[in-house]
Amino acid sequence: MKAEEKKKFLIIGGGLAGITLSHRLLHRNQQVTLIDDGMNASTKIAAGMVNPIVFRRTTLSWRATEFLTYSWDFYKALEKQLNTSFAEPLVIKRIFPSVNEKEEWQKKQLLPAYQNHLVNIESANTEQNFGIVRSGYVVHAEKFYIENQVYFEKTGVLQKETFDDTLFSALEQSYRGTKYDHVVFCCGYRVSETPFFQNCQVKPTKGQTLVIKHNELPETASLHLKCFVFPLGDKNFRIGATYEWDDQTLHPTKEARVTLLDHLRHITITPPEIVSQIAGIRPTTMDRRPVLGSHPTYKTIHIFNGLGAKGYLLAPKMAEEMTAYLLDNVKIPAEYCLTRYQSK
Ligand SMILES: Cc1cc2nc3c(=O)[nH]c(=O)nc-3n(C[C@H](O)[C@H](O)[C@H](O)COP(=O)(O)OP(=O)(O)OC[C@H]3O[C@@H](n4cnc5c(N)ncnc54)[C@H](O)[C@@H]3O)c2cc1C
Repeated sequence: MKAEEKKKFLIIGGGLAGITLSHRLLHRNQQVTLIDDGMNASTKIAAGMVNPIVFRRTTLSWRATEFLTYSWDFYKALEKQLNTSFAEPLVIKRIFPSVNEKEEWQKKQLLPAYQNHLVNIESANTEQNFGIVRSGYVVHAEKFYIENQVYFEKTGVLQKETFDDTLFSALEQSYRGTKYDHVVFCCGYRVSETPFFQNCQVKPTKGQTLVIKHNELPETASLHLKCFVFPLGDKNFRIGATYEWDDQTLHPTKEARVTLLDHLRHITITPPEIVSQIAGIRPTTMDRRPVLGSHPTYKTIHIFNGLGAKGYLLAPKMAEEMTAYLLDNVKIPAEYCLTRYQSK
């Protein structure tokens, strides 16, 4: 087999997008420099739940079955490579808010596309007010981010710094005097800090979660009704998350705390003890599709962003497609290519 041509990549942003893309490129024997300043606002803060079902409509999320298998295999292989563990199966329990939703679940559970995902509710069981997703899992997000930082630092891939625009030449494709074949911006919601992708339509969506202590909630499944309740062990639970479009700060707010506690009351009326509260910012798009592609003028400057609220499900496969685009010229489908914004 012909040896792969080694190219030099500069990746800016070491969240999910930058991490998954770096691994894919390194796997193809490319030279990667990853810049991250540790001010991570999403990957580390996420609940890390990988759920193929969109509740309320009881429908499979975009390319869910394909992404689910691919991402699980990716995380499991990565655990081996990094000699750690961060992904495990998760029982996801949807508490039905209405009879209609339960009936929808009962219809869907019979369809071939859903059979590997939904646990059947027996038609005789009229009492059951919840459905179980059997195919979900969780990536323990903070551990995932930190373990990858440690690995990339140890292997000389990671540079811990804030990307400095003034030291970058787009014409020469150089940063701090070093030339690169390709530069990929994976900056999450901070994409607006760089001049190259101002039109990419990635919008910041703030999300806040609480950690609570509670003696009555179950520790064997995550519960979903109005909010999620995710067991952390030792009677601690994460509840979340808010969706806020008007606030781009990383400060936890009282309004979000009140909202989350209000949502929690749909699951339990026993008040919790609040342990902590954090805020993050998701990089989202209006059409809920990621953004992959190249700058219209500087063809070797690229973007990988817009992972939205389901980044842990999407990122591994999207990183593989981005790699195929960069190394093999495989076209990015119009649905999630940057060009969908440029033609408007
Ligand atoms: C509260 C909350 C809960 C979530 N829960 C889930 C969930 O359960 N399941 C799920 O799949 N997804 C979830 N998500 C979404 C998921 O976290 C995101 O889709 C994903 O993390 C986005 O990754 P990213 O790499 O694009 O962005 P980020 O994680 O924001 O990473 C960008 C990185 O780039 C770095 N950076 C940016 N600009 C620069 C610069 N100029 N110089 C140097 N470094 C820079 C930042 O420090 C950061 O580390 C959640 C998000 C939030 C906020």
